[in-house]
Amino acid sequence: MTKKVAVIGSGIGGIATAIRLQNKGYEVSIFESNNYLGGKLSEITIGNYRFDAGPSLFTMPEYVDELFRISNKDPKDYFTYQRLPNICNYFWDDRTRLEANADPAVFAQEIESKLNVKAEIIEKYLDQSKRNYGILGGLFVEQSLHKWSTWFSSKAMKGYLNIFNLGLFSTLNKKNEVTFSNPKLVQLFNRYATYNGSDPYQTPATMSIIPHLEYNVGAYFPTKGMNSITKSLIDLAKSIGVKVNLNSPVKEIIVTNGKAVGIKTDTIHNFDVVVSNMDISPTYRKLLPTQPAPEKTLAQPRSGSGLIFYWGIKKNFKELDLHNILFSENYEEEFKYQFSKKDIYNDPTVYINISSKQKLDDAPAGCENWFVLINAPANEGQNWDEIIERTRKNIIAKVKHNLGVDISELIEVEEVLDPRSIELKTSSAQGALYGTSSNNKFAAFFRHPNFSSKIKNLYFVGGSVHPGGGIPLALSSAKIVSEILDN
Ligand code: FAD
Repeated sequence: MTKKVAVIGSGIGGIATAIRLQNKGYEVSIFESNNYLGGKLSEITIGNYRFDAGPSLFTMPEYVDELFRISNKDPKDYFTYQRLPNICNYFWDDRTRLEANADPAVFAQEIESKLNVKAEIIEKYLDQSKRNYGILGGLFVEQSLHKWSTWFSSKAMKGYLNIFNLGLFSTLNKKNEVTFSNPKLVQLFNRYATYNGSDPYQTPATMSIIPHLEYNVGAYFPTKGMNSITKSLIDLAKSIGVKVNLNSPVKEIIVTNGKAVGIKTDTIHNFDVVVSNMDISPTYRKLLPTQPAPEKTLAQPRSGSGLIFYWGIKKNFKELDLHNILFSENYEEEFKYQFSKKDIYNDPTVYINISSKQKLDDAPAGCENWFVLINAPANEGQNWDEIIERTRKNIIAKVKHNLGVDISELIEVEEVLDPRSIELKTSSAQGALYGTSSNNKFAAFFRHPNFSSKIKNLYFVGGSVHPGGGIPLALSSAKIVSEILDN
C-alpha cells in the first residue's frame, strides 16, 4: 500500500521534501498554517510595488533545477534565472566605492586599484575558499552528520587529513585580518558571516568557504523574482500529485508506541510518516509537548534576525544595483550590539536590495522597490517600536551621507518586518532568520539532525535543522531526508 506522508509547513524545505517524496512513490500532503505558501520565501505587494518578502540572494540554483529533473521535467520550461554580472555595490562613508564584478579576476583588479591589496591575494583567497568548500561541502552540507556512515566515508577522510587548513581553530575576522592588510577588505569578507546570521568575530574561519559560492559558482536572480522559486515549485508539487492545504495549522504530532502516526489540525489525520518543516524549537514545544525534548540542542543560541523596511521610492538611483551595502564605520561594535547588547547599533550596515533593477515591473516607472535590511538580534522582548523608530532615522541619515539624497520625502509606501513579526508569520523561534547561529566551531554538530532518534517515522527539514539556514541548505535538508527515509 502507498505510504502517506504529512509535511508540516510550506517553507522551501517543506516543498522540496514533498516533491522528492512524491517522486519516490509516497502520497504527500502539505499542511500550511498561513493563507499563503513559502514561509520566509514569499512576496508582498504594497500599492504598485512588489517585494520579495525574505531572501534576496540566490545561489546554487542547481538545487532547484534538480527538483524539476527528478520529476522528469525540463527546469527551463518552468523556472528561469540569470547569473548576475555584478554581485554587489559596496559603499563606505569616506566615499570609497567598489563594484564586485562576478568575474573574480576583474573583482580582484578593482580591489587592487581601489584598496591597494594585490589582486593575487584575492585570487588566492577565493581559490582556498573553493578548495575548502570542496572538502567540507560534501560532508557538512550534503549528508546527515548524525549517521556513522558519514564519518567513515571518503569525504570525511579528506576532511580529517585537512583538519588544520579548514579554519576551525580561528575566527573569520582573524583569518581576514591576517590575509588582507586593508580594513575595508577585512570588513567586506567578514560580511559573509551574516549569510547564516553569525558574527564574524566569533564564527570560525571555516565560513570563508561562502565567498566561493558567490564569486566562483555565481550569484543569480530568478527572472520572475525570488518568489518564483516558491511559485514554480508549488506548481510542480501540485502537478505530480502533492496535496496542499492552506490555513491548516498543525496543533500536534500524534505519537503512539514511539512512532509518529499522524497529525492533528482541527481533526486527526493518520499518516505513516511525518516531516516537520516548522522550526525545531516550536516543533518540540508545541507539537510534541509530552515527548522528551533535546534540551541542549534547543538551548543553542539563535542566529541573527533582521529588521526590514519595504520602501517604494519615487526616484531612480543610478549608483545602486540589485544588491548594495552601505558599511558601518565600526563593524566590530555593530556585532557587539547585535549579539551581546541585543540591540541595533546607531551606525548600522545597510543592505539595500532593489529587485526592480532586474524585474522592471516590480516598481512604477521612475521608481524603485527598496528592501532595506539591517542585521538585528533575535527577539528577546526588546522595545522594538523604539528600535525601529531610531533605526529608521539612522538608515535615512546613512543613505543621505552616502548617496547625497534625503529619501524621507521619497518613500511612497512602507511596511516593516521585525523579529517579532518574523516569528509570528513563520513560527521561527525568536524571529531568527537561519535557525541557530554558527558562532562557535561546534555549532554544526549541535544543530538538530534531520530525523528523530526517539520517535520512529518523524523527520525534520528546513533552516533550523541540519545543515542550516539559507535556501540552498534548506533544499539540501530535504534531499538528506528523502535519502535517509529510504534506508
Ligand atoms: P520557513 O520559510 O521557515 O517556513 C516554515 C513554514 O512552516 C511557514 O510557512 C510556516 O507558516 C509553516 N508552519 C510553521 N508551523 C506550522 C504549523 N504548526 N502548521 C502548519 N504550518 C506551519 N536565505 C538565502 O538563501 N538568501 C537570502 O538572501 C536570505 N535572506 C533572508 C532575508 C530574510 C528577511 C529572511 C526572513 C530570511 C532570509 N534567508 C535567506 C533565509 C531563508 O529565507 C530561509 O533559510 C529559508 O527560506 C527557510 O526555509 P524553511 O524551509 O526553513 O521554512
